[in-house]
Amino acid sequence: MLIEWKGSPHFTPLVRPHRNLPEPPLIVLHTMAGSLAGTLAHFQSPHSLVSSHYGVGRKGEIHQYVDEKDGAWTNGRVNKPSADQIIQRGGNPNRYTITIEFEGKDRGGAIDEPQYQAGLWLIKQIAARWKIPLTRDYIIGHYEIDSVNKPSCPGPFFPWSRLMKDLESTLPMVSICHQGTPIAMGYLDSGTTYGPIRKIAEALGYTVKWDELSKKVDLSK
Ligand SMILES: [Zn+2]
Repeated sequence: MLIEWKGSPHFTPLVRPHRNLPEPPLIVLHTMAGSLAGTLAHFQSPHSLVSSHYGVGRKGEIHQYVDEKDGAWTNGRVNKPSADQIIQRGGNPNRYTITIEFEGKDRGGAIDEPQYQAGLWLIKQIAARWKIPLTRDYIIGHYEIDSVNKPSCPGPFFPWSRLMKDLESTLPMVSICHQGTPIAMGYLDSGTTYGPIRKIAEALGYTVKWDELSKKVDLSK
C-alpha cells in the first residue's frame, strides 16, 4: 500500500507532539462529499478552510493531506454526539482525532474492495502508531460527533461490521526490546511472539545470512 502525500494548508500544528499521551486519539471515518479528485481540490483550495488527514479512493488510492501530529479541520461542530469518547473528552474533537474520508457518497457510503483493503490497512497502521484500541469506542463515524447535520457520514452502506470484525481479529502488536530499548515491532499469536529476524539479530550484533534454496536463516557473530 502506498500513501501519497498531497498536503492541505488547513490544519492546527502539533496538536499531538508526544506519542505517550494519556489517552490515544480516536479514528473518525467519513464519506467524502465528492470524488477523490474533487476532495483534493477542495482541501487544497485556500478558501475552503477544511481538510482531513487521509482520503481513500475507489481504487485503493490513499491521499494524505495533513500530518497525523497536526489537527485536521474535519469534524465541524459537535452536535448531539453519541460517542462516549466524544462526550467524555469534550472540547474540539479535531484536537484528538485522526480522520479518514472514503470516496462513495453516490453509493450511500458503500466502498469497493480495493478501497476497503486500503482503508483496513491504513486504520491498522494508524492504530499501531498511536496505540489506539481496535474497538468501536475508538473507531467512530462522523455521525457519532454530529448526529443532527451528519447522520449519513459515513453513509448507511459503510461496511462497519465487516471492518470491525477484521480489525478485532488483528493480532496484537508487540514492541520487541533489547535491554529496554525498542528494536523492532512484532506480534503475538497463541503465546508466541513473532518478529523480523534480520532486524532483531542485526540489532544484537549478529550477521544474518539467508539461504533461499534451503530456506535457512543463519546467524553468526
Ligand atoms: Zn463527515
